[in-house]
Amino acid sequence: MSGDIQTRLAQVQKRVAETCARAGRNVSDVRIVAVTKTFGPEDVAEVARCGLTVIGESRIQEAKQKIPLCPGNLEWHMIGHLQRNKVKDAVQLFKMIHSVDSLRLLETINETSKAAGVRMPVCLEVNVSGEGSKFGMKPDELIPVLEYSNKFMNVDVEGLMTIPPFTADPRDARPFFRTLRELRDKCREKTGFSLDQLSMGMSGDFEIAVEEGATWIRLGSVLLGERKPWKASSGKGEEEL
Ligand SMILES: *Cc1c(COP(=O)(O)O)cnc(C)c1O
Repeated sequence: MSGDIQTRLAQVQKRVAETCARAGRNVSDVRIVAVTKTFGPEDVAEVARCGLTVIGESRIQEAKQKIPLCPGNLEWHMIGHLQRNKVKDAVQLFKMIHSVDSLRLLETINETSKAAGVRMPVCLEVNVSGEGSKFGMKPDELIPVLEYSNKFMNVDVEGLMTIPPFTADPRDARPFFRTLRELRDKCREKTGFSLDQLSMGMSGDFEIAVEEGATWIRLGSVLLGERKPWKASSGKGEEEL
């Protein structure tokens, strides 16, 4: 098992490098969030040994149980839907939140970060496809939310995030990634926020996302293999996975 992640990572890095060369981008502008949901601390430790330091989780309960069992020098990012009543935990556990999908959530993160004496970098999640099943703000909410967020001193809105609809052909994701970038450009022009980060691209479509400007690619199965449930030692939380 242990050599697997190293081998997969080398392949991913090669693909990212080739894509960057093709797209005229710097490899250093594309960073990997290793998504370890459902994987246990041993796998996280292996990811860390391979030199990856940014780790993504999508559920608070799972992260809360897992993080204390993992190497201490890692930077944890929240990438999944976050309920407002879990923001306090999120602010303690995570260095960045990619998935801020409402103004109320942003406001709660600001208040909670203020109380904790930190400043939280975030991305605003955008429902580019308009699918009812997806979390995320509507594209036309972005500018008002950004303008309103000028008064939030304890969040840094660093960019936008999206998850395109699932399709068998990764090329189908391109219009959604492109739209996110164009929305970013428009928001940048209208609000003065620089919004440098674009969190987009997963195992199946990261090359397309990099071509369209991704700065954070969130990779799970392409690095770690197929997901399996991780049983927390307390026995609780299994249904959450
Ligand atoms: C699970 C997850 C990923 C990683 O998915 P893979 O297809 O395994 O790379 C990326 N982003 C989010 C928001 C996720 O929940």
